[in-house]
Amino acid sequence: MRNDDNLFSLHGQTAMITGAGSGIGYSVARALAEAGADLVAASDRENLDDIREHAEKLGRTVHTAVFDVADAQQTQSVVSGFAEDVDILVNNAGIIRRAPAERFTDGDWQDVLEVNLSAAFRICRLIGPRMLRRGQGKIINIASLLAFQGGLNVASYAASKHGLAGLTKALANEWGEYNVQANAIAPGYIITDTTKDLQDDGMRSQQILDRIPAGRWGRADDIAGAAVFLASRASDYVNGHLLVVDGGWLSR
Ligand code: NAD
Repeated sequence: MRNDDNLFSLHGQTAMITGAGSGIGYSVARALAEAGADLVAASDRENLDDIREHAEKLGRTVHTAVFDVADAQQTQSVVSGFAEDVDILVNNAGIIRRAPAERFTDGDWQDVLEVNLSAAFRICRLIGPRMLRRGQGKIINIASLLAFQGGLNVASYAASKHGLAGLTKALANEWGEYNVQANAIAPGYIITDTTKDLQDDGMRSQQILDRIPAGRWGRADDIAGAAVFLASRASDYVNGHLLVVDGGWLSR
């Protein structure tokens, strides 16, 4: 239950974050815990000790869940166990595969669609009903600039993130009247494992930097404030929105 006058307080709320062990997911989970939320930190790997330790030091309750979001059965059995507790859902787990479109394999197409889009939908479908019954909930999907643009050599990623934007708006339409808001964050170029290939490509990395008005690549922590906003009652009348956090890239 919300039990605090601070507009951005998440005390008394429980947030589930997928991909919480690294990069943007870790930063978002940490910021939500700092704002007061208890956590369900999820990952496909045993990399959740740091987030657990940090949040517990703040006095938060932390549950960890290791499962593959692309596995529908595993997701059903693990997420069902937490579904009654989650007030804030952050669908952050994501992968990328790079290849020219004409050589893109079925596997690289399907794997990315499965993790970035279908899994997010399945988790919303598992967590959403309790939010609807309770008349309160926040869904935050981590999209991308490639929910607006096509990118280079990342056809399945661009399709998945455009799809995630569509899913966000569909849920906003259907669930808004129950006081459940579905929004997305579209991060720009952030220094994490997802962009390692770009960072390692000197020329491409410089081209990207040259287009960012902020004059630097983003850091995972740059996404945290937007997540706290969209998780808090400060955003109760924001619904179906894609909040771009890109140092100005899209304005260029
Ligand atoms: P990252 O590789 O650190 O994070 C991806 C996370 O997803 C990892 O923690 C990983 O454990 C988890 N994951 C991947 N496959 C999974 C699966 N099958 N089951 C469960 N968990 C799985 O990179 P990141 O950049 O922090 O990525 C987080 C999100 O941000 C992704 O959705 C990514 O598309 C998005 N994003 C990143 C950038 C960027 O520039 N880094 C830009 C836009 C959007």
